[in-house]
Amino acid sequence: MSELQEKERIAIERLKAFEPDEPYHLCYSGGKDSDVIRILAQLANVKHELHHNLTSVDAPETVYYVKSIPDMHIDIPHDKYGNRVSMWSLIVKKGIPPLRIMRYCCSELKEKGGEGRLKITGVRAAESVNRKKNAGVVKIIGKPKTTQKTAEEFGADYDLTDKGGLVMNMDNSPNRRLVEHCYRTTSTMINPIIDWTDADVWSFLHHYGCESNPLYQCGKTRVGCIGCPMATTNQRFLDFHIYPKYKQLYIKAFDKMLEEHPNKDYYTWNNGEDVFNCWLGIDENQMNFFEEET
Ligand code: SF4
Repeated sequence: MSELQEKERIAIERLKAFEPDEPYHLCYSGGKDSDVIRILAQLANVKHELHHNLTSVDAPETVYYVKSIPDMHIDIPHDKYGNRVSMWSLIVKKGIPPLRIMRYCCSELKEKGGEGRLKITGVRAAESVNRKKNAGVVKIIGKPKTTQKTAEEFGADYDLTDKGGLVMNMDNSPNRRLVEHCYRTTSTMINPIIDWTDADVWSFLHHYGCESNPLYQCGKTRVGCIGCPMATTNQRFLDFHIYPKYKQLYIKAFDKMLEEHPNKDYYTWNNGEDVFNCWLGIDENQMNFFEEET
């Protein structure tokens, strides 16, 4: 058995080990990792539903690709009052563009959904140092003191993340019982490919005849939101060159952000275009405002 076949076997075992009574909520972003978990869930023959959150800033190719997948649930994020949440509404509400150090959009647009359900994600440690430190095969985010107390009672083997979440890397029975106990009241995620590399992902997808999102065939190595602050500056420039409509939408949202701020002296920008240029690093005089982590 090759190393990848062994990883595939383990990932399938992980999905089977934690399978809840109701279907898993499989978080499908439209990227290569989410295609892997989609195929693994079929191979494991576990009950699951595919869910994709419409972020409003995904590339059109991604949206078409996601919609082409059978049985996909397309979810539109809403706030607690029932209003639609999009990148444009968030920019106005937060009063600042999304930044590396302030990624409010991920939690509001990408990570919403699946409340009360056990989620499957395509999170991999190889994606970032932060994920290496703060993710495991299972991740439970809830009230930290309560979840830790429960984990102790069940005798689970766990580590704590920087923000008080619990991560577990074993599927022994105390850990399984803890997941079963917690998932309805916390945000609990099973990450079956946490230890997969990029090469594993592509070999697996080729083996199962999945070409994944067409944007990869255009040379992209990551498929994310247009204008994402986590992308490289070159990538962001390129995205706005390819999708000028999104540049207009950002500028419009920045205009509205300036208009709606209660204190008109708060910003030094004159209009949304100034904000956009500053945000992309074109206006170097104002870069301090957006000082970002390196
Ligand atoms: S723009 Fe980037 S940080 Fe914001 S939701 Fe999209 S991926 Fe997350």
